[in-house]
Amino acid sequence: AERRELLSAGDVARTVARMAHQVIEKTALDAANRASVVLLGIPSRGAPLAVRLAEKIAEFSDVTVPVGALDITLYRDDLRRKPARPLEHTQLPECGVDDRLIVLVDDVLFSGRTVRAALDALRDHGRPRAVQLAVLVDRGHRELPIRADYVGKNVPTARSEDISVHLSEVDGHDGVFLSQG
Ligand code: 5GP
Ligand code: MG
Repeated sequence: AERRELLSAGDVARTVARMAHQVIEKTALDAANRASVVLLGIPSRGAPLAVRLAEKIAEFSDVTVPVGALDITLYRDDLRRKPARPLEHTQLPECGVDDRLIVLVDDVLFSGRTVRAALDALRDHGRPRAVQLAVLVDRGHRELPIRADYVGKNVPTARSEDISVHLSEVDGHDGVFLSQG
């Protein structure tokens, strides 16, 4: 099958760094409101991405933002794309989500149903002040009124195409590819 590189390993690193700068700017993240922002990655690949974003944010702003993972498997309203992984568990930072500015982090945004499920999952854990969304790739084809606040790369795709996101934490190397489904 045809496979085209969209982001090299270096591109992935630069993209995450840019997104970290954008989070710092858009959330006005500084020492004064350091208690406000929490990053929550959506497993599987959103979780390591959230950790990387937090590392870059710490590097650029000297603010350590709490980071965790939000498992949305039980909240899916469609099982078209069955998770090929065991149920992972939500790991919220000790501070919880109440009154926080939550930044959800995922690898690919497609229909928007995962994000909708994440909002349902969040509601069971508390009441954030606001929720934002960061994705490495927006591939279009939204089926819900959902958009990302931070986008690493917009990739117009055909429905039949598939984006492969490789992250070293999970896959041993970094890179994003577009392949025919
Ligand atoms: P959605 O729920 O928006 O339809 O799809 C987003 C979720 O499914 C994300 O968690 C993402 O990991 C996964 N996903 C959807 N489409 C793709 C794709 O083309 N490639 C990859 N790697 N993941 C996808
Ligand atoms: Mg996913």
